[in-house]
Amino acid sequence: MAARVVMKQLVIAIDGYSSCGKSTTAKAVAAALHYAYVDTGAMYRAVTLYLLEHNISFEDLGQVEQALHTLHISFRRNRRTGRNEVLLDGVNREDDIRQMVISNSVSEVSVIPMVRHAMVAQQQRMGRKRGVVMDGRDIGTTVFPDAEVKVFMTADVVVRAQRRQAELAEKGEQVPLEDIIENLRKRDHLDSTRAESPLRRAADAVLLDTTHLVIDEQVDFVLERVSAALFAPRG
Ligand code: C5P
Repeated sequence: MAARVVMKQLVIAIDGYSSCGKSTTAKAVAAALHYAYVDTGAMYRAVTLYLLEHNISFEDLGQVEQALHTLHISFRRNRRTGRNEVLLDGVNREDDIRQMVISNSVSEVSVIPMVRHAMVAQQQRMGRKRGVVMDGRDIGTTVFPDAEVKVFMTADVVVRAQRRQAELAEKGEQVPLEDIIENLRKRDHLDSTRAESPLRRAADAVLLDTTHLVIDEQVDFVLERVSAALFAPRG
């Protein structure tokens, strides 16, 4: 009888600046490994959407706390597109959370410590069985500091903005490049300078600059790290 090889299930943390291709890379890596994929940015975007739709001021911490108890974020795989889509209170809001109005406010929401605590706790629950690829800003530092593979992605801001502009145009939203560059710079700044789990490269994360790379190269880079983590001789 053939022996069954059981592969160790890893946590793969992909962090980095906005619009470096983290989600696209993470999704492809998850598909290649048959791992779950969690887009943590979508969770902060969903909280932002909820607060805006309920006219809750980001400064009214009592109401924000109440909202965090009430709202429910989950993911569902769209069988047609293969995309993991975010549900807010059971309703698919994937397209809504990607709009510029959300991008313009999300970093003011993700800076709020109680929002971070709630999201980090949910992310840790989602990854507790391991076998997961998670992308975000603080996965390798705060959510899963014990992740076996940690990649920190960066890219030239103009290249990032051009990619983002093309994505938005595909969904019918035309946004001037300057506006996107400004949004990316603002988010990078807020994300990197906040007190609670700021965006920063974990000491043991490998740097991946995607300025001149295509998606397949980014995916291969991560998969090579996965092989190294799986097959490295134990010391
Ligand atoms: O990844 P995405 O660009 O969709 O993330 C949107 C925003 O959510 C980021 O700019 C950041 O403010 C916040 N975020 C975060 N921590 C994460 C993921 C996203 O603070 N792990």
